[in-house]
Amino acid sequence: MSREYLKEAGDASLEIPRDVTESVRDIVDSVREDGDEGLRELTRTFDDVEREELRVSEAEIDAAAGELSEAERRTIDNTIENVQEFHEEQRSNLDGFEREVADGVILGTRLVPIERAGVYVPGGRKPLVAAPAMTIVPAVIAGVGEVVACAPPQSDGSVQPAQLYAMDRAGADEIYVAGGAQAIAAMAYGTETIPSVDKVTGPGNVYVIEAKRQVYGHVGIDFLAGPTEVLIVADESADPEMVATDLLAQAEHDPRSRAALVATDRGIAEAAVEELHEQLPSLRTEDIAEESWEDNGEVVVVDDREEAAAVANDWAPEHLQVMTDDPRDLVDDLRNYGSLFLGHHAPVVFGDKAVGTNHTLPTLEVSRYSGGINVTTYLKVLTHQELTAEGADAIAPWAAKICELEGTHAHQISAEKRITSDDGRQLAR
Ligand code: NAD
Repeated sequence: MSREYLKEAGDASLEIPRDVTESVRDIVDSVREDGDEGLRELTRTFDDVEREELRVSEAEIDAAAGELSEAERRTIDNTIENVQEFHEEQRSNLDGFEREVADGVILGTRLVPIERAGVYVPGGRKPLVAAPAMTIVPAVIAGVGEVVACAPPQSDGSVQPAQLYAMDRAGADEIYVAGGAQAIAAMAYGTETIPSVDKVTGPGNVYVIEAKRQVYGHVGIDFLAGPTEVLIVADESADPEMVATDLLAQAEHDPRSRAALVATDRGIAEAAVEELHEQLPSLRTEDIAEESWEDNGEVVVVDDREEAAAVANDWAPEHLQVMTDDPRDLVDDLRNYGSLFLGHHAPVVFGDKAVGTNHTLPTLEVSRYSGGINVTTYLKVLTHQELTAEGADAIAPWAAKICELEGTHAHQISAEKRITSDDGRQLAR
């Protein structure tokens, strides 16, 4: 089996520049020490905005809804409803259990929602309108007690209307105007107005990522997500025009976005690259897409679908699109991806914007160990046990022996005191 690289991607990693780490440390400290006033000062510095009231009022939410047309509101509602439906299905397929595993020994798990979630909705460069559905809806469906959400201000101090409408409709209980690292610090440590939460979720720029890294431990986080990625597996049945379009749809996000093509047919690979260069000049986002493709685009020709699956698993991409005649043939071989798009009619844009699955996904090989945001992001899987005297008598000698091996003496006594039968005492000796 072989891999022939027609174009190789540059190196990419989640390494955060030292100056960002240091500046985020200062930002987190300011919010911890100075609370609301620190937050206002940081908003002045980084967003060039003066805003006294940090919480978004009902009147502002109503005004945002009023700024949108009926069709715009309907579009946002449609995405939220689809995401709700998918995540409700996900929740209904998750259950704890309780079982008597031996006489008098009952073991179980319960899925318990976290009490407070803090969701960051990014909006510096582009107001991501689908993002609130992806991060807030699963929290609401998981049963989180209080969903706190932050979004950065526009130049007039308000949250972008479509984004604010989406945050409210998705079910955020409280919405605050705060962006970047200062928003993450505020939700992690709390200020006079913003409550501290148990877990902070949501994507964002490098300052947001670094702030999540720094507050992790004090609060939980979802995962650290970098610039977006797609890897497309294509065979001879793929349409090179569609392949090129879908590669560019990812490249336009960010100069650091990564788009890769793995083709089992050299002709398709060459035709798709030619198409991509033809389509580029017609894009309004040409500059970013071109830089991203030149720096991070990758094209690999492989012998067969098994090797294509191996490349995809090595890449562990955020989005994995399979444009082959029988995409389901590959599913069992694919292990590492944030979300999988099967067939010629399932481009990434559907999952990202409207179909109902989640678009907050792991990047830069994080899909080797984590999926994207889902209802379990906001649930804890907790265990419990209940034993009768008979159950305790049966398990105690085994527990006591382990303690003896460890030298954990008080533990050993705690176990031995539960032994009630001669058989048990015999076993414990
Ligand atoms: P953002 O909301 O993440 O950040 C904007 C904030 O950054 C501003 O409010 C400002 O306070 C702060 N900031 C700006 N410059 C700063 C500086 N020099 N020092 C300290 N703070 C500073 O918005 P963005 O910048 O547009 O980034 C959004 C990111 O989210 C993109 O990279 C996008 O790719 C990513 N994203 C990822 C996913 C995913 O699922 N992986 C989904 C959506 C978006």
